[in-house]
Amino acid sequence: MDLTRSLDTEAVHAGREDLAELGLHAPPLDLSTTYPSRDSRAEAARIDGFAATGARLDGPPVYARLDNPTTARFETALARLEGTEAAVAFASGMAALTACVLARAAMGLRHVVAVRPLYGCSDHLLASGLLGTEVTWVDPDGIAAAVRPDTGLVMVESPANPTLAEVDLAAVARSCGEVPLLADNTFATPVLQRPAESGARIVLHSATKYLGGHGDVLGGVVACDEEFARRLRQVRFATGGVLHPMAGYLLLRGLSTLPVRVRAASAGAAELAARLAADPRVGRVHYPRIGGTMVAFEVHGDPHDVIAGVRLITPAVSLGSVDTLIQHPASISHRIVAEGDRRSAGVTDRLLRMSVGLEDVEDLWRDLDTALGSGRSGRTVPNQAEQPA
Ligand SMILES: *Cc1c(COP(=O)(O)O)cnc(C)c1O
Repeated sequence: MDLTRSLDTEAVHAGREDLAELGLHAPPLDLSTTYPSRDSRAEAARIDGFAATGARLDGPPVYARLDNPTTARFETALARLEGTEAAVAFASGMAALTACVLARAAMGLRHVVAVRPLYGCSDHLLASGLLGTEVTWVDPDGIAAAVRPDTGLVMVESPANPTLAEVDLAAVARSCGEVPLLADNTFATPVLQRPAESGARIVLHSATKYLGGHGDVLGGVVACDEEFARRLRQVRFATGGVLHPMAGYLLLRGLSTLPVRVRAASAGAAELAARLAADPRVGRVHYPRIGGTMVAFEVHGDPHDVIAGVRLITPAVSLGSVDTLIQHPASISHRIVAEGDRRSAGVTDRLLRMSVGLEDVEDLWRDLDTALGSGRSGRTVPNQAEQPA
């Protein structure tokens, strides 16, 4: 790795270093499910090696559930951007989180300490105990006290989905002691924040969002040290949550424009956050200290009317695409979280979450302005009783 290269340069070159030698410009897409070999003694030895260590195989992957050369390029590039030794890709963000939890539970470490809010399905995965784990929910300053001998992970999101609440990752990492900190970096991306530099041992992404960036690929990835990556590869092989190679190809392509997309959309988001904060139809506006393309805001009128009223902006869940999306977390992204837990995490019924894309900011504002005006309270001055404290 060339430490002198900037993130922007790595985004377009990492994972592609050998292409010129191969006489190629675009990365090859390998769709093989199996790899022929006439030497089954050698294959047996390679399979034994993988089963024992989880180290990446030299040479062809034997079978597509072990590894894939196209996906491996994406993993190499993402690890470079996050500043970690390795990365392991999965079929979705939830498959990636599942593998992290299982990798620790398999060592007898079945307790998770987590800070709300998390993405709705991450919250559900931990709260439901579906994987045989137990969760303790705490505020960031309660982490150290909640850690037990069987704690396998501490999990945080910053900025968090959907409220954009931020935690001090370095302080949180210190309070974890020996327990690995898993930081979901989906919202910030390595362009705005590299949690490994703050002491997070495990950095999770829903690659479906910014890394893909065009709303057409589902994926997840974990950036971490090689030791944990080996466990994750073993879990991935055994449970089968592999990323499709076509998705690996698209995600590698998405990384090359990631810094440009995130910076441009962040400028638009900051401007819209400022206009919303000054608008009498809007209550609290949440925009992260570190910036980014997400804006969360509470409306005085009916949030469902705003969702129904947008025309340029797409009323849909998900985020991180080139076009702007808006959704109502209490109805969609965080519906699966119990109402009381949702509310206490700051996910109120008036909260809307918007992922700002690359459209012209004046066009976006015109659309938002019209949608806000079509609500129950219209352009009238909001009732004082409805003003949040
Ligand atoms: C979407 C999301 C996930 C889940 O990822 P999928 O790719 O949808 O499985 C996890 N964390 C955060 C912060 C998300 O926004």
